[in-house]
Amino acid sequence: MIYFDNAATTRPERAALEAANIYLEEQFYNPSALYAEGYNLHRKLEGARRSLVSHIADPDEFGIIITSCGTEADNQAIFCGGRRGNIVTTMGEHAAVYAAAQEAGRRGIEVRFANLNSDGSVDVDHLLSLTDDKTSLVSVMHVNNETGAINDINSISARVKEKNPRTLFHSDGVQAYGKIPFTLGKNIDMYSVSAHKIGGLKGTGALLKRKKLVLQPFIWGGGQEAGLRSGTENVFGINVFAAAADIRYSGGVEGSFDKVRAVQARLWELLDKDLFIRISPECGSPYILTVGAKGVRGETILHMCDDEGLVIGTGSACSSNAAKRYSRVMQACGLRADLLDGVLRLSFNPHNTLQEAEEAAGILNKVVRADSDMMK
Ligand code: PLP
Repeated sequence: MIYFDNAATTRPERAALEAANIYLEEQFYNPSALYAEGYNLHRKLEGARRSLVSHIADPDEFGIIITSCGTEADNQAIFCGGRRGNIVTTMGEHAAVYAAAQEAGRRGIEVRFANLNSDGSVDVDHLLSLTDDKTSLVSVMHVNNETGAINDINSISARVKEKNPRTLFHSDGVQAYGKIPFTLGKNIDMYSVSAHKIGGLKGTGALLKRKKLVLQPFIWGGGQEAGLRSGTENVFGINVFAAAADIRYSGGVEGSFDKVRAVQARLWELLDKDLFIRISPECGSPYILTVGAKGVRGETILHMCDDEGLVIGTGSACSSNAAKRYSRVMQACGLRADLLDGVLRLSFNPHNTLQEAEEAAGILNKVVRADSDMMK
């Protein structure tokens, strides 16, 4: 089977599972316990936290709040960061930010959504025009999960702070961490990441937070995660996450970036341009290739590919409700109406090969051609 749905989730890295196995079978203690075993575990967890931060920021500047997933990290940033005035975010955000912002709106904070460019990146001028002296939080995703467009969050955050230095800047980095070479600039206050997108486990995410930033707790209880997110730590999950991140970053994230870019380029090169148009930008994340197939339904193509041994994603939600049937993000990109049904997302990991790209292109060309012939 060829698995090209890595933006949805990745296969856990065996080496990361093995490295962390000790925390399942031997060091199973509660890291808050006062006896030596607990304290030693606590110290080891501190090491894992620093390591997770160190790949993209200075661990003396940034702390990390471990969460149950990227969605929780995003919710924490929105609800704890945007507590007054207005929140500015974008039409391209994953539901973890978008729906949380809508809920903040229902709770009395004004929420403003910036438009997108056709590739899914944010229209920065529009975003800045929405930001004013009452903006408590701006949230802009780093890599768009539907198109792979990269927002230059270091530059955008600097421009936001020029307009209002008191505004907090958050970015959802779930599709960027472990994939895109970058470091957090000095104007970014919070950054969300998720383990299962880079070979870790579902059930572990994190919010990186500037240490000097004071936030309200998100979950109250025993005071774990510096009092901001209580609950006994997921020791195994955190250690798998740290080991998986080490694997992605050891030897430089650039090497995998180039390898994946070659896979993406080969696949696009071999797709029949009479059948597919490219939605992902050329200079976006190589980990995502989103294409539109003319006159077919993405969901049908997904199932036909599955039958042929190719697993991919679509860009349209499986809903009979017309308003929800098409992707909000694709509509915000201004995608042609006749393509909205046929959006396919192919997403990669560093283990994918050129041969897989070649086979996948053959399958996609075959099934889309067959389906569009049937529709004629
Ligand atoms: N943000 C983005 C950009 C994503 O792509 C996803 C998952 O697809 C999430 C947030 C949610 O992450 P999690 O699945 O860890 O809750």
